[in-house]
Amino acid sequence: MRIIRRPSVYMVGRQVVNDAEIDRFLGDHGVASWSTDTEVAGEKLAEVAGRLCYMSFAKPRPGGNSKYLSHIKEVGHGSVLEHAVWNLLITGVSRSFTHELVRHRAGFGFSQLSQRYVDESVAEFVEPDCIADDPELHEIFRASVEQSQQAYIRLTEGLARKFADVSDATLRRKMARQAARSVLPNATETKIFVTANARALRHFIELRCNEHAETEIRIVAGMVLDVLQKDSPNLFGDYEFVELPDGTRGAKTEWRKV
Ligand SMILES: Cc1cc2nc3c(=O)[nH]c(=O)nc-3n(C[C@H](O)[C@H](O)[C@H](O)COP(=O)(O)OP(=O)(O)OC[C@H]3O[C@@H](n4cnc5c(N)ncnc54)[C@H](O)[C@@H]3O)c2cc1C
Repeated sequence: MRIIRRPSVYMVGRQVVNDAEIDRFLGDHGVASWSTDTEVAGEKLAEVAGRLCYMSFAKPRPGGNSKYLSHIKEVGHGSVLEHAVWNLLITGVSRSFTHELVRHRAGFGFSQLSQRYVDESVAEFVEPDCIADDPELHEIFRASVEQSQQAYIRLTEGLARKFADVSDATLRRKMARQAARSVLPNATETKIFVTANARALRHFIELRCNEHAETEIRIVAGMVLDVLQKDSPNLFGDYEFVELPDGTRGAKTEWRKV
């Protein structure tokens, strides 16, 4: 049995701009040329979407993409930010984390490891730092998850015997695992593929990367913000990290919920 204490966030996908089609659209609408100063597809597409609303390609104000998107955030024209999308893969997190994450409905897509199909007899477990740091509490945690996993193994074996007359082996395993998983704890490690747009990600960061959020989701929200700030400073650079009393990070911005 392996215990995990750190999540991982992988940015596995980002958008690509079709510049030829933007130029064709502009040409069809009497705009001889328009350019912007970002190489980030999501930032450029958000600017194109915003400029489309007012057909403001011909005489853009100075300041480039950064100033343009700052103005969008300032006036709360949030739908423009929905055109910038990222794909993230998050691993080393608990089922309690994903239960909170999937409450974010607007602008998010999720695909999560299935406990009906995947054998959890080799699952790992995510231990909160405040438990892991204390030998006595850590031992309670370790013994408890080990006992749960042993119960899961015994239940899957017993259920496999009970469903022995089900000829489809995949269905038989699924029937056993879907019932046996009921004894697995919230700490069971899971993996989730997340696709979200910039507006939804900003809302997620504001709700979850602050002192009121639960610790694990706060840590992951900070890691998500790390990769987004690196990839798209014009959409996410306005957030500033602050250190919280427990040593984790919160994020603050002057533009809330665009
Ligand atoms: C600190 C904290 C504690 C929490 N505690 C609990 C708890 O004890 N129990 C619990 O059940 N949940 C709890 N939650 C979850 C919370 O209630 C939300 O479900 C979660 O934060 C997602 O927020 P959201 O609905 O704004 O996000 P999204 O679902 O992504 O929605 C984004 C925005 O879109 C709009 N929107 C989305 N759907 C609708 C709709 N159907 N109708 C109208 N407008 C809509 C709203 O403006 C919403 O803010 C907690 C969250 C936090 C941050």
